[in-house]
Amino acid sequence: VSVAPPPHHLRVLVLANQKGGVGKTTTAINLGTALAAIGEKVLLIDLDPQGNASTGLGVERRSRRVSTYDVMMGAESLKKVMQPTAVPGLSIAPSTLDLLGVELEIAGRKDRALRLKNAIARFVEDQQGEPPSERFTYALVDCPPSLNLLTMNAMTAADSVVVPLQCEFFALEGLSQLLATVDQVRSTLNPALTIHGIVLTMFDSRNSLAAQVVADVRSFMGDKVYDTVIPRNVRISEAPSHGKPVLLYDLKCAGSQAYLKLASEVIQRERLFRAA
Ligand code: ADP
Ligand code: MG
Repeated sequence: VSVAPPPHHLRVLVLANQKGGVGKTTTAINLGTALAAIGEKVLLIDLDPQGNASTGLGVERRSRRVSTYDVMMGAESLKKVMQPTAVPGLSIAPSTLDLLGVELEIAGRKDRALRLKNAIARFVEDQQGEPPSERFTYALVDCPPSLNLLTMNAMTAADSVVVPLQCEFFALEGLSQLLATVDQVRSTLNPALTIHGIVLTMFDSRNSLAAQVVADVRSFMGDKVYDTVIPRNVRISEAPSHGKPVLLYDLKCAGSQAYLKLASEVIQRERLFRAA
């Protein structure tokens, strides 16, 4: 039943939720770091004009001479744009505010939703020239808080979507719209797109409502919800101002441990998907 995976496959996961402040960027940075810590080679693609993933990984604005803007415009390759980070095995393709203009600039082009997919295909091709141990195994795409053309590009290029949901009263609001967008992409540009999982974030055990929200989301979405719940943790929110993932800032804190657990769950699911 199990088919050997193609030799140098890059798994592309997209962090998407049209709500802002739900933990997309935090999860992109820290899931990426945790995957790298357990031996994967990870490229984080910052597709949010705000560039919080880039800043949070210590890439200063003046060192973003080339960025995902150039990638989306077809002017530079991901290989050229990516930079190493302080985390061994984690690189980032940073973004700049220029990305805000991409939507208008490419709106009239036939391949407007395929730009990232094409860039990633080229990246995978470039990888064939690298020794196998140097090849990237995961790309994580951090999206803006909108179901705009950038997010559509990410979903079109992705194998799977990871949805961060904040443990708050309105958590499920907007989820059906997100799922409808995934369905739409699946029925048109990317038939193989799956929901990888839903990750509950910013869980506060002192808030009695939070446990109810977790229960509601689990009963609505079933086993699509990862077992790992990311706690609200002050170390997670402090780390970006130091330009570091929380795993480098404070490995022992509850937030770091939760992201390590999430990474191993993500890898387990990958293996099951492949075997299915
Ligand atoms: P998004 O990318 O979806 O807009 P962010 O990842 O930027 O959301 O998170 C929004 C804010 O919440 C940020 O200031 C971040 O540091 C903080 N934050 C995210 N996750 C946690 C957490 N588990 N505990 C504490 N603060 C968090
Ligand atoms: Mg963000």
